[in-house]
Amino acid sequence: MRPLFQLFSRHIAGHSRKAHLQASAATASTALLSMAAYSASVAKHPGVSPNDAAAKPHHVKDRRGRTTGFRNPHPSFTKSKTLDIFMLFFKWHIGLIKFPEPTGKEVSVVPAQFLQSRIASPNLRATWLGHACYYLEYPSGLRVLFDPVMENHCTPVSFVGFKRYTQPPCDLSALPYVDVVVISHNHYDHLSYPSVCEIQKNHPNTHFFVPLGLESWFKKAGIANVTEMDWWDDAEITLSPEAQKSDAGRAKSTASSNAPHEPIKARISCLPSQHTSSRKGFDENKTLWSSWGIASGGKSVWFGGDTGYRSVPQIPKDIDDYGSEYSHLPVCPQFRQIGELCGPFDLGLIPIGAYEPRHIFLGEHANPVDAVNIFQDIKCRRAMAIHWGTWVLTPEEVLEPPRRLKETLRLKGLPETGVFDVCAIGESREF
Ligand SMILES: [Zn+2]
Repeated sequence: MRPLFQLFSRHIAGHSRKAHLQASAATASTALLSMAAYSASVAKHPGVSPNDAAAKPHHVKDRRGRTTGFRNPHPSFTKSKTLDIFMLFFKWHIGLIKFPEPTGKEVSVVPAQFLQSRIASPNLRATWLGHACYYLEYPSGLRVLFDPVMENHCTPVSFVGFKRYTQPPCDLSALPYVDVVVISHNHYDHLSYPSVCEIQKNHPNTHFFVPLGLESWFKKAGIANVTEMDWWDDAEITLSPEAQKSDAGRAKSTASSNAPHEPIKARISCLPSQHTSSRKGFDENKTLWSSWGIASGGKSVWFGGDTGYRSVPQIPKDIDDYGSEYSHLPVCPQFRQIGELCGPFDLGLIPIGAYEPRHIFLGEHANPVDAVNIFQDIKCRRAMAIHWGTWVLTPEEVLEPPRRLKETLRLKGLPETGVFDVCAIGESREF
């Protein structure tokens, strides 16, 4: 997301880290289970990539050839103008534009439930924890968390607004295992200092995978288990059973009966997306943004994170920007490249919300039509919708994204359910 708070955040000095002191403590048993089981080793190497990626056109370089920032290299990206964002806020302020004021009852929230054993299911199990945060339980035993943000506000300071209208379906301390945390980029609705600190505290062996430029942020947060990656990089992670400590009797019995005795292996692929980054306002695009592919135990997932798809001019909302007059306009070719080189994926986690006004946000945020095209380009067998239902970031009605998703599926001749679904926050699906 790069919504209105980015404008404000340019005037807010720094990011208070006091909040992490308020992070809720994990239960002792949760921490013990996670600590007792596995240690991780990571080997990074170039992955398969398209020819046009070799020159790294997404790197901005200085005269000496050093990378100083990042950019979206394709004409499918249009940068939103600061004046447009300012006018959107101004019109909202004087009442010319309304943002939805949901009660929280619009989107269902159910208590999240997790497998208490690593080998309890032969399927891939995916649980939506709100917005872009998903928890994945792989049949290999691997446990992955994407973009965890559990705070009320997705802003540097709470008075700016952007308060949750749906609550998280569980505390982070309820997650029985977290082996890998994957971050798409550094916007506040995707990267939370208190949340990553709490995960690190509950699960000290967790390994964080982040896009290029973000490693130092994690190191400053006291998180050493971090690997930063460029687009089209792969990493192999191996989780090896640790020798049990003699005083961890409970962990010993749980790990030995409910966990694989062989190492758990996974391939983590950092892949392109079309977005931006910033945390303080003056650090725009200094760190990379990405999507991710995670394969383990015969199941593969593509996590879209936060992404745009195409470029179209400002036209009235009731005109179809995929109509024949606009059909020649560019789409981001990287999704098709991902699908061809890395697909198919068993599951895609694909953003569908925060897209109005279209001409301001389309460079960075897919609308539901874009999302279904991304789903097809990536070659996902199934998908779940993310990036909606949690914070009001933009003026579209809160239930418009899932409604338009169904309309799009119907118009494309796809089943309205069972292919690219929405679910309740806290709901788990198996694949
Ligand atoms: Zn973002």
